[in-house]
Amino acid sequence: MKALINIDYTFDFVADAGALTCGKPGQAIEEEIVRLTSEAIQQGDYVVFAVDIHHENDPYHPETKLFPPHNIARTAGRDLYGQLQQVYEQHKDKENVYYMDKTRYSAFAGTDLEIRLRERGITEVHLVGVCTDICVLHTAVDAYNRGFSIVIHEKAVASFNQAGHEWALGHFTGCLGATVL
Ligand code: ZN
Repeated sequence: MKALINIDYTFDFVADAGALTCGKPGQAIEEEIVRLTSEAIQQGDYVVFAVDIHHENDPYHPETKLFPPHNIARTAGRDLYGQLQQVYEQHKDKENVYYMDKTRYSAFAGTDLEIRLRERGITEVHLVGVCTDICVLHTAVDAYNRGFSIVIHEKAVASFNQAGHEWALGHFTGCLGATVL
């Protein structure tokens, strides 16, 4: 069994007016993310929406010093971007759809993601979302360390940093043994 993990495809990370946006490269993958997500839900894969959450000026969070405030709790910046929000709304009560908050780059850090994957016998994780070289990368590294097979959907990941995006794609295959489709 496999899981599709949707990482941080929110207004703040994708929209032109987002607080920490990937901009056009992020917007360009909307159709592919929506297609893969809808297909995965329909075929019964476990579909996880792993969404960054922060509190403004949190003195204990390492990102406070690194980035402008983004994905603040209870703001529209945390809404899923574009059609993905509708796909989520339409299917959110299904048994194979799970929305979870995450507070670090990796979807595994401080969450119950691993235990949920293990209890379902999932051995293969498919990753989509943003940013390729930050949250997707850190999630992939943690999946690798936990022994999961990794599939990255190249047309469904993006970054504001094109060089970082390309470097990460090479790292996925060369160092994490991932399949990049
Ligand atoms: Zn963040």
